[in-house]
Amino acid sequence: MKDTFKHQGMRQQLVEVVRAKGITNEKVLKAIGTIPRHLFMDSSFLDHAYQDKAFPIAADQTISQPYTVAFQTELLNIKPGDQILEIGTGSGYQTAVLCLMGAKVFSIERQQELFRITSKFLPKLGYRPKKLIFGDGYKGMPEEAPFDGIIVTAGAPFVPKPLLSQLKIGGRLVIPVGVDVQTMTLFIRKGPKEFEQHEFGEFRFVPLLEDRN
Ligand code: SAH
Repeated sequence: MKDTFKHQGMRQQLVEVVRAKGITNEKVLKAIGTIPRHLFMDSSFLDHAYQDKAFPIAADQTISQPYTVAFQTELLNIKPGDQILEIGTGSGYQTAVLCLMGAKVFSIERQQELFRITSKFLPKLGYRPKKLIFGDGYKGMPEEAPFDGIIVTAGAPFVPKPLLSQLKIGGRLVIPVGVDVQTMTLFIRKGPKEFEQHEFGEFRFVPLLEDRN
């Protein structure tokens, strides 16, 4: 696992691309500039790792586009020590961003193969989420709730109720909602049954799947 000056230089260019697209949170930009994204993908994609694009990883899944990762992370508004739940661990790239920003990270992945690979890989790079599980993100992680923030990194056909109910008051759920195209949606919990909802334009994600196959 190598990280060279060349990779570091390419990452700084990526940071500027993501900044130019409107990301302003310096901690998010610093995370993008720090994490060796090329190590999260297949070696044959090395040259593509620092383009602002999504790419295929194992089990027919994708590593999200850096801009999308930055956009969702910015919406979460993380403070160090925040308890954050991620749905869709995938390559672990978003997980690493959350760890680097000082969050206590819990993450769920439904593909056994990805769960296995990523659980071994993240600690090797020095990223230590509190808990990674193989399971169904629609259910959230009730045993670790409530969360300051929940981030869903796959396209949800609807907003799973358990995720809303596992937020602290003041907590934020960032979720792309839709079937073919998703609307990035932020829910802020204002009270036991009150949620504020904001929408942030269209994105494309792999689907949040309901049953294991
Ligand atoms: N955060 C990831 C994005 C991976 S793509 C990254 O940065 O690489 C979305 C991921 O969600 C895939 O790994 C997919 O297997 C997973 N996923 C799909 N449906 C899910 C579900 N119901 N519960 C948990 N994970 C799910």
